[in-house]
Amino acid sequence: MDKLLSGRRGLVMGVANDHSIAWGIAKTLAQHGAELAFTYQGEALGKRVVPLARSVGSDLVLPCDVEDLASVDAVFAALDEAWGGSLDFLVHAIAFSDKNELKGRYADTTRENFSRTLLISCFSFTEIAKRAAERMQAGGAMVTLTYGGSMRVMPNYNVMGVAKAALEASVRYLAGDFGPQGIRVNAISAGPVRTLAGAGVADARFMYNFQRANAPLRRTVTIEEIGGSALYLLSPLSGGVTGEIHYVDSGYNIISMPRPDVLKA
Ligand code: NAD
Repeated sequence: MDKLLSGRRGLVMGVANDHSIAWGIAKTLAQHGAELAFTYQGEALGKRVVPLARSVGSDLVLPCDVEDLASVDAVFAALDEAWGGSLDFLVHAIAFSDKNELKGRYADTTRENFSRTLLISCFSFTEIAKRAAERMQAGGAMVTLTYGGSMRVMPNYNVMGVAKAALEASVRYLAGDFGPQGIRVNAISAGPVRTLAGAGVADARFMYNFQRANAPLRRTVTIEEIGGSALYLLSPLSGGVTGEIHYVDSGYNIISMPRPDVLKA
């Protein structure tokens, strides 16, 4: 029997190492038959991403810094050459903010870091989604990664929460734009995962442990579980779903207050 993604080709952006959420997604998609291309930011990360890509049968590994639009265009030019101008899915798992502003008060965010954070963590998805959609047929799908700090105040998440709120709104507007072509756009709102980006937020370990103690499943999620949800959102299994923010967070988002026994302990 054919695998869910047999014969489908997709671009995965945002693998930094084997702890990256994008890597959990890529492994799962490859297991289900997808052919993948990867991007990496800078030569140091490239050295890690190339062997990971090879391990899932990909030798299409391209540099890309989303702050530089020419490098985004170069990725699509290389994809066009390799895949003849067609693409079936996109995974966008990219975010950045100055670590010095992922602590303290949101009110103290600087103009410069606000713009940079929103450009890398939000607008890059719009620019890349537009280019991806131009190459997709009906049945194409895209996924980006967000976090519950978009909806509720999380200590230290600050400007990244504002960027994620804008990213989630972008998902809905892009779903509206591309829906008539049969292209779907969704986001996964993941619970905390120990990654390079995750470690940039002050008190990350406390947040991780707090969510583990209070989430209905009493644990955090794995990158493979996030991969499973991405597989669903990128495959025909979710053919009727677009513009959705899908929580993969052990149920933490439904909780209104900490468990009294945790607080008393
Ligand atoms: P990660 O550090 O493994 O991945 C972040 C990626 O963003 C890296 O590959 C990095 O190279 C890339 N990136 C940053 N700036 C870039 C730029 N200018 N150009 C190109 N790439 C750039 O961390 P992760 O946690 O796997 O993050 C992936 C996504 O998941 C992010 O959007 C993050 O906000 C989101 N997310 C993370 C968590 C968590 O707890 N780790 C939870 C929910 C959502």
